[in-house]
Amino acid sequence: MSNVHELNFLKEKIQELKDQGVYRRLPILEGANEAEVILNGKRVINLSSNNYLGLANHPRMKKAAIEAVEKYGVGAGAVRTIIGNMDIHEEMEQLLAEFKREEAVMVYQSGFNCNAGTIQAITEKGDLIISDELNHASIIDGSRLSRADKTVFKHADLNHLEEVLKANRDKYRNLLIITDGVFSMDGDIAPLPGIVELAEKYGAMTYVDDAHGSGVLGESGRGTVDHFGLHGRVDFTIGTLSKAIGVIGGYVAGSETMKEWLSHRGRPLLFSTYLPPAAVGAINEAVRILMSTTEFTDRLWSNARYFKDKISQLGFNIGNSQTPITPVIIGDEAKTMEFSKKLFDNGVFVSGIVFPTVPKGTGRLRCMVTAGHTTEQLDKAVEVFKKVGEELKLL
Ligand SMILES: *Cc1c(COP(=O)(O)O)cnc(C)c1O
Repeated sequence: MSNVHELNFLKEKIQELKDQGVYRRLPILEGANEAEVILNGKRVINLSSNNYLGLANHPRMKKAAIEAVEKYGVGAGAVRTIIGNMDIHEEMEQLLAEFKREEAVMVYQSGFNCNAGTIQAITEKGDLIISDELNHASIIDGSRLSRADKTVFKHADLNHLEEVLKANRDKYRNLLIITDGVFSMDGDIAPLPGIVELAEKYGAMTYVDDAHGSGVLGESGRGTVDHFGLHGRVDFTIGTLSKAIGVIGGYVAGSETMKEWLSHRGRPLLFSTYLPPAAVGAINEAVRILMSTTEFTDRLWSNARYFKDKISQLGFNIGNSQTPITPVIIGDEAKTMEFSKKLFDNGVFVSGIVFPTVPKGTGRLRCMVTAGHTTEQLDKAVEVFKKVGEELKLL
């Protein structure tokens, strides 16, 4: 028998990935995450980041981070509930609550942490979590940590959601409907007005993970709830501070009661050190920027419209994206990875997204246009897509 410490059981699984053509190494970025980067030693146009507004390396953000370091140092020093909670952390939550037009906001160390900590804290045995089948991995993992029962409804399907609500209303105490605001791999927007109506009809709570809607949809990036004018009708709205905001962190916006409870039972807040001052200084600056101008979101949307038009005119299938997320759907896993590699060789970086991140047979190049791209960069990227698409006989 082989020695267990050789981890042969993992080596076999790794070999399977290689056989399937989905094995990859982590790409290495030399320098800041911007519209054009040096990646694995090669200069390329970056169409893969979540840095929607180009804030990750913005001079105002860097200045705010440095100032926070000068005053508060580099670490929070403890979990929030002991002595890791600084006045800038409190300010961050007040700014975010004002920006989101909600009563209160609780910030976690990441969006993933926020789902992992919040879902289990607000549900228990005797409750039912009703989740869109395409919800993000952190919602799935977060739900697994809850003692509530779980079920899924077909993606964005209000009729199916109503069937599930009807069948379960009397069997459970609380029902919690969870949906992404914007679906990260397809770029479509959840049918939130319909979901909220059904929730109200059946007395269910609503939980919207707006990681890709915050900083993107609504007035100056206030999110999907703002986009649909549903303020006060969604119980829990999650946002990230790591995507459009350009830093790190995640939050849930909702009522004071929610916040009060999470400050006692949000486990990542109780057992993991809080955000470092540099991050908080930059986050606060980003929120101030968004509250003072729509310049960043305006540029994001005009770039996104420009790129999406050009790519679909070439004849690529971009699914039914309604946001700057532009999936170019290839299908076959290995072909998707080959497409991505050829784009890279031609100076454009778009990572291939395949199973298990998306369903089998729906491999795609997920293009992320940002406010930071120039028209020249977008034109060059479109030209390269055309060239590679023809080479691979997809056009
Ligand atoms: C990215 C993402 C998260 C995780 O956010 P992080 O801040 O990167 O941890 C959670 N939910 C959704 C829908 C996401 O797209």
